[in-house]
Amino acid sequence: MSNEENTNEGDLDYGRSREVSMWSNSDSCVASRSTSTVDRSSFNIYPKVKQDVDRTAYKQQKYCIVCETQVGKHGITKAKKLCCKFCFNAVCANCSPLTLMHPETHILERVCMTCFYASIEDKMKIAGESDIKQKIEQEIQEKNMIIARKKLCENKISDLEDLLNEKSKQENDLIREIQNCKKKMTSKIDDEEKLKKLSETVKDVREINILEEIQTLERENSDLKEKIERAAAFQASQRSGACCLIQ
Ligand SMILES: [Zn+2]
Ligand SMILES: [Zn+2]
Repeated sequence: MSNEENTNEGDLDYGRSREVSMWSNSDSCVASRSTSTVDRSSFNIYPKVKQDVDRTAYKQQKYCIVCETQVGKHGITKAKKLCCKFCFNAVCANCSPLTLMHPETHILERVCMTCFYASIEDKMKIAGESDIKQKIEQEIQEKNMIIARKKLCENKISDLEDLLNEKSKQENDLIREIQNCKKKMTSKIDDEEKLKKLSETVKDVREINILEEIQTLERENSDLKEKIERAAAFQASQRSGACCLIQ
C-alpha cells in the first residue's frame, strides 16, 4: 500500500478494481468486473471530483457522510470506514456499493451514494436540457416551416389579388369604353335621324317650290297662249279689214 492509500486506522478500503460497476455506456445495469485497465469510454457517468477540499479529512471523520453510522475499525458497533474518492469523505460500505471511473486516476474508484446521485442528477439535467433543447429546436423548425408556408400562401394570395385588381381594372376600362361607344352610337343615331328629318324637310320644301314654279310657269304659259291667240285674232281681223278695203 502506498502512503496515500494508507489510513491512520490502517483498514481503509478504496475498493479500487475490486468492486462491481453497474454502469456501462448503454446505461443498462451490466455488471462489469473491472480491472485497472478498464476502457474509460465504456462509462458515461462521471461524478465531479470535489476540488478545494482536504483530501485526508476522512481520516478524522468518525461517521459515514451519507447515513451517519459510526465508522472505524470493523467491529460490532462500527462499520468499516471507507473513503469516497470523489468527495473524500468517510463512508460506510452500505453507502458506497459502487465504483465509477475516476477522471484523475482513470480507474474505477469508490463513490458514495451522495456523489453518485449528484452525478446522476447532473446527467439527467444535461440529458433533460439537451432533450428540451432538441424539442424546442424541432418546434422552432416546425414553426419556421409553418411560417414559410404561410408566407408562401400570403404571397400567392397577394399575387392573385393583384391579378384580380388588374382584371377588375381592365373590366372597368372595358365597361367605360362600351358605355362611351354606346353614347357615341346613340348620338350618331340621333344625328342620323336629325339629318333624315332635315333632308325630308328640304325635300318637302323643294317639292313645294317646284310645284309653285310649275304652276307659275303654267300660268305664264297660259297667259302667253292667250296673248298669242289674241294676237292671232287681231291679225286675222286686220287681214279681213284690209280685204274689205281692197274690194
Ligand atoms: Zn453509510
Ligand atoms: Zn462522495
